[in-house]
Amino acid sequence: MPTGRRSVVTGGAGFIGSHLVEALLANGDTVVALDDLSTGDRGNLAAASSHPAFEFVEGSVLDRDVLRQVMSGADRVFHLAAAVGVHVIIDEPLQSLRTNIHGTENVVDLAHELGLTMLLVSTSEVYGKNTADRLGEDADRVLGSPLLSRWTYAAAKGIDEAYAHAYWSAYGFPVAIVRLFNTVGPRQKGRYGMVLPRLVRQALAGEPMTVYGDGRQTRCFSYVGDVVPALIELSQSPAALGRAVNLGGAEEVSILDLALRIATTVGSDSPVTLVDYTEAYAPGYEDMRRRVPDNTLAGDLVGYHPTTSIETMIMRVADDLAGRPLTPAGRL
Ligand code: UDP
Repeated sequence: MPTGRRSVVTGGAGFIGSHLVEALLANGDTVVALDDLSTGDRGNLAAASSHPAFEFVEGSVLDRDVLRQVMSGADRVFHLAAAVGVHVIIDEPLQSLRTNIHGTENVVDLAHELGLTMLLVSTSEVYGKNTADRLGEDADRVLGSPLLSRWTYAAAKGIDEAYAHAYWSAYGFPVAIVRLFNTVGPRQKGRYGMVLPRLVRQALAGEPMTVYGDGRQTRCFSYVGDVVPALIELSQSPAALGRAVNLGGAEEVSILDLALRIATTVGSDSPVTLVDYTEAYAPGYEDMRRRVPDNTLAGDLVGYHPTTSIETMIMRVADDLAGRPLTPAGRL
């Protein structure tokens, strides 16, 4: 049933963006996806592309003319376009900063001028090295030097949040901010750094699984199929406006344990190999030892209670990498 609502998704050809596009189309929205295809992939939009209410525009959020064109007449914008992945940020720090600072500035400015509501997708990286038991949205940020490229991503995303929030404070600009914690699922590419698809690919290929450092660092992986519906709900929740909301996974897992569970789940005898951070990234690289979300606010606002197990996430990623068809439920 068409909603008559027009949604723009920047970064719509990316891993999360493409799942969001499909969900919005299924809900009845007209959807325009903007993507410069730097890390996004037209193939991610194969299903969406045949939908009559879908349009794809190739372009950058750094191009205000293109942005104006896609956002004019729209009701809301989901801003996901960004330079992402530790390898991208380390290899191209300047371009990443431009995209992640000026790109967001452009989207916020135009959304305000053209009267759109906005969902700004940010990241748990903003908390940096804070190892609290459960990171609430007002937790302190513990960042390394801005001269270390790893921290430039968190620095830029922090500015993005502040900029959007300042618009909210100054003008009542309707924006909600979401901080994602290690979202995984089909279509995520390992080559930009993300650990789960990297280790699953290695396990399927029978190669050693590269665990960095001592492998005792922990993360709480969240599944794209749990996260995407929450993004949509938050974009239309008045109580979320002007706030930042965590969307993370429920289970804390060490990377070493993750590797072992991947091997078991896909039936691989790939060994684990420990790789020094210096070799994996660059000298002076700093990792986060622990990152655990408090998802209470998202639960209260939109009933977010992630249920997908790590084994299910691994299986869905493995099916996708192996080119096995996914059921509609499996895809999300
Ligand atoms: N990691 C790893 N092997 C890899 C890629 C990443 O052990 O091949 C580690 C990485 O050092 C970090 C964790 O996995 O401790 C999560 O990395 P990712 O880049 O996926 O996310 P983030 O560091 O942003 O949480």
